Amino acid sequence: METHVTRRLPPGARLVVASHNRGKVHEIFDLVAPYGLSVVSAAELGLAEPEETGSTFAENAHLKAAAAAQAAALPALSDDSGLEVDALEGAPGIFSARWADRARNFAPAMQRVADAIKQRGAWQGQGPRANFTAVLCLAWPDGEVALFEGKVYGHLVWPPRGNKGFGYDPMFVADGHLLTFGEMEPDAKHAISHRARAFQAFARTCLGGGAGL
Ligand code: IMP
Repeated sequence: METHVTRRLPPGARLVVASHNRGKVHEIFDLVAPYGLSVVSAAELGLAEPEETGSTFAENAHLKAAAAAQAAALPALSDDSGLEVDALEGAPGIFSARWADRARNFAPAMQRVADAIKQRGAWQGQGPRANFTAVLCLAWPDGEVALFEGKVYGHLVWPPRGNKGFGYDPMFVADGHLLTFGEMEPDAKHAISHRARAFQAFARTCLGGGAGL
């Protein structure tokens, strides 16, 4: 998934990070840092958080970026992402944030994932297969958009381990690794994560290089 665009963001350009999720905003700011853009989050600009009415990561990423680009009259980069568990036919997927409680506490959400898998008798051996998927969308105020997808495959562990990262990180181990994303240093997660992979595609197309990655 990579939309052809001709416009790039040169160093110094202003970019809105169209998310109110602090974990995501933090990671996207880290990923953008080497490119010398002037980034600001949607929350810092006081932008409203649009309802995620899409039925795919791409649709939700598009509506979030387009809403922020229109409201701020600036290019906006959104991320729609989630955990997909094979044994749950891809759930929680686009509902990953909504499986958490109102306070965005993910301990109950991780418990819900583990319980759902165990109820199906699908928690055996090394741990159920899962992946994180992220779709990044760059939207311009005039409506032009570009979409980029990244995935990282792995398995789930129980109990959760580590207090770094955010969301479902403490229960996910990427293929070829021993630490959960919750135990990894941010740089190690950035080297392999779904978001970093989508970001690399975004950077190649819209930032004009691979600096920093
Ligand atoms: P949304 O894209 O704002 O609807 O929310 C995505 C949700 O997916 C987050 O709130 C997390 O629960 C989960 N998620 C997405 N990316 C990650 C990640 O890198 N680590 C852990 N959880 C993630």
